[in-house]
Amino acid sequence: MSGSNLGDLASAIRAIPPGRMLIAVTGAGISLASGIPTFRGTDPGAVWSKDVTELGTYRYFATDPAASWSWYLSRFDTLRDKQPNGGHFALTQLENWQKARGGGFLLVTQNVDCLHEQAGSKEMVKVHGSADRVRCDNEGKCELAAPKGSIARDAIDITQFLEDPVANNLPRCPRCASLVRQHVLWFDERYDQHNDYQIDRVLRALKRPGVTLFIGTSFSVGITDMILHSTLARNGRVFSIDPSGEAPHVAVSTICVRAEEALPELVTLLSST
Ligand SMILES: [Zn+2]
Repeated sequence: MSGSNLGDLASAIRAIPPGRMLIAVTGAGISLASGIPTFRGTDPGAVWSKDVTELGTYRYFATDPAASWSWYLSRFDTLRDKQPNGGHFALTQLENWQKARGGGFLLVTQNVDCLHEQAGSKEMVKVHGSADRVRCDNEGKCELAAPKGSIARDAIDITQFLEDPVANNLPRCPRCASLVRQHVLWFDERYDQHNDYQIDRVLRALKRPGVTLFIGTSFSVGITDMILHSTLARNGRVFSIDPSGEAPHVAVSTICVRAEEALPELVTLLSST
């Protein structure tokens, strides 16, 4: 592990060579200060930490779609009315700063909440899908299903299911009457299964990494590992803002500060010179 500070990070970002990207990768840690519990981890709010890899699967949905829906409704209920925090807004400022000097920027978020969009992020990939949408389960056969289709969550009627959460009351696709599922990447699914996950865009950015900045992510899923090693293989610098101070690799410079404190300070440093 190598400890680092925000001054080092600001210098590295300023020194990104022309044509190289500033890539920000966010995980649940950035939304903690907005009152959204982490999907996994050791904080007391991580209520599903034991079951998540079992319940967050297509296999579970296919076996018991009513139970899968109930689980997601309880989870996504916690996202309602949440607001972006200083970390989200500072990332938007960081994007604007980088673009204003002609640099490339991409935000890759593993979060399915909508706080980055609400804070104004533009160049963004929601690589694990989005909680505000659902889609038809009839993959490849219905235009509201993968690989391209989705439906606004608010556009489907779940009143009956909420009253009586049994299989017969599950929401159905308005086109083909198949079951409707969450528009999220499940643990037993692939990043290339839906165009909205934009894995090609992530891979394109990783062909020219300058600085890759991980924020509030536990490095426990394949995508973070892939982004980390792709960046290092192409001589990019890697930083991680994480209050736990854990570093996944000897080449990662870790800044042991919470995202909502570190990111505004980083923007101040970058803007002041
Ligand atoms: Zn359909």
